[in-house]
Amino acid sequence: MSKALITGAAGFLGSQLAARLRAEGQTVVAIDNMSSGTEQRLRPFAGDEGFTFVAYDAADAGLLALPELVGVTDIYHLASPASPRFYQALPFETIEVNTTGTRTLLELARRTGAKLVYTSTSEAYGDPLEHPQNEEYRGNVTTWGPRACYDEAKRLGEVYCYEYGQRFGVAVKVARLFNTYSAALRNDDGRVISNFVGQALAGDDLTVYGDGSQTRSFCYVDDTVRGLRLMMENPAANGQIINIGNPVEHTILELAHTVIRLSGSTSGIRFMPLPQDDPKVRRPDIAKAQSLLGWKPDIALEEGLMRTIEVYRGRREGGGP
Ligand code: UDP
Repeated sequence: MSKALITGAAGFLGSQLAARLRAEGQTVVAIDNMSSGTEQRLRPFAGDEGFTFVAYDAADAGLLALPELVGVTDIYHLASPASPRFYQALPFETIEVNTTGTRTLLELARRTGAKLVYTSTSEAYGDPLEHPQNEEYRGNVTTWGPRACYDEAKRLGEVYCYEYGQRFGVAVKVARLFNTYSAALRNDDGRVISNFVGQALAGDDLTVYGDGSQTRSFCYVDDTVRGLRLMMENPAANGQIINIGNPVEHTILELAHTVIRLSGSTSGIRFMPLPQDDPKVRRPDIAKAQSLLGWKPDIALEEGLMRTIEVYRGRREGGGP
């Protein structure tokens, strides 16, 4: 039986993955330093004997000595701020957890023989000059700008994965996650779907950065979690970088209109300055995930947005996760 370690388990993605693994009967050890994770996301696991939470920083090499980690078979290294709002507020933590932290977890995998899935990012492609992006594309990134602490740290995290795979035979798999969403995003997450849904339900204008012609491709979290599970289980993913994202692309302005329509909102749109280095287009080529894993997303944007809007609506009075 598998025993999984999830770093970033109080985060948006980690908490959803933990719920799925527990539903499958896996034992879960959950680590989070609570820099952007929330207590609320851990509440569903209260009293669950198969779930152990350890408040710890994944970048701290002392992690290797934690008694809770004995017998771990599967490591999901998810810990990292992922919203530009959070990683730009925590640049050094973001760099550390994706570089030193990734190395520490790879070291754990080397010592124990555990498999490891590292969640990298579509930001590895930067502001892409090839479209859509497949895993061979080397990216248009910069070390010198507000997104660099995230993009370059994730890229270096991938390098550590490469070296541990090559030198020590660690069964390492790198998922490049494209934009992912659900109602489990924090209300103050700052990413576009969280902002737009919150604004639409409050009757505030939706804040479109730039002219809204930039594109993104949004994947509902259940599809993302299923992709991560398949990567962990399938040896075909060993030593591979695989895009996990929804290949249906929308402009941000289209997204704003869709959210207004689906939520029945009377909100308007307010155009605001485009942040520096904001990628102009982003869409995954998922041929590799399809051929190696048989994975593709099932949940279309409108369906995922409806689910998200309903939950946000329900918790508007009660406060968010
Ligand atoms: N964006 C926007 N309004 C917002 C938040 C984001 O227009 O309130 C835009 C942002 O400039 C970017 C896209 O939406 O072009 C996605 O931004 P997000 O922060 O969700 O993630 P990113 O893909 O940039 O990491």
